[in-house]
Amino acid sequence: MATETSFEVGSMRVRILDDGIFITDAGNIFGGSMKAKIKGAMHAVLVEAGDNLVLLDAGFGADLPEMLVGSYELRRERNLMDDLEEAGYAPEDVKHVILSHLDADHVGWALEPPSFPNATVYVQEDALKEARTLPERDGRRAAVPPVEKAAEEGWCELLRGDDEIVPGIRVEVRSGHSAGHQIVWIGTGDDSALYTADLAPAKIWLNPDLISGVDTDPEAARRNRIEVLTEAESRGAPVILYHEPGDFLVNVRRTEKGFEGVPVPR
Ligand SMILES: [Zn+2]
Repeated sequence: MATETSFEVGSMRVRILDDGIFITDAGNIFGGSMKAKIKGAMHAVLVEAGDNLVLLDAGFGADLPEMLVGSYELRRERNLMDDLEEAGYAPEDVKHVILSHLDADHVGWALEPPSFPNATVYVQEDALKEARTLPERDGRRAAVPPVEKAAEEGWCELLRGDDEIVPGIRVEVRSGHSAGHQIVWIGTGDDSALYTADLAPAKIWLNPDLISGVDTDPEAARRNRIEVLTEAESRGAPVILYHEPGDFLVNVRRTEKGFEGVPVPR
């Protein structure tokens, strides 16, 4: 059941991978005690940029983390590593892994276990600092020891703000969901695509007023969501929605209530 989608941005090829689906109570995402179930995909992104193979976020990893057993269910027939192989690559080929932030559903294959022996993993220092302050049972906090170890061993680079990771791939700090949360622009100018990570992870989040119980700073998230989606629209950049189970590649358009996502034909 491969859902791989690929498209070109300039001379780069962008592939959208799939690490399965999680099911959880809506209350775990929106706060409160909502009993409804919510479903989220994990669409990590693989970019072939010349000699550089770059992965944007890294799913849940081989198994659901221990602390989420009972509150999250993971459904998958295939995973990110299967999609990587199907794209014609081995784990050794991945040279750069950009982590948008340190939630367990984004860092899995990169950290626990480290699955890409030749890769440098990029984390914003502010995301690490915030994670250190969180309670022991928080997923972000659990990422602190592996990130610190990786930084010590030299395969994790801590970033301080916006940066160009390889030519044509630029991270931009857009906090709100977490401190130091980074999005990724692939390409330049009018020939680009946007990976929003958890700033706008699914179609419902294209409404800037949606308040999420999982945003550290909802007001910053709202402001950044509007700015970033406005820029994506003006640049005509398709947006990749990490957690969207349905149409995860959309063009955004301003509406009276916020933004709508128009599926990119594939
Ligand atoms: Zn997430």
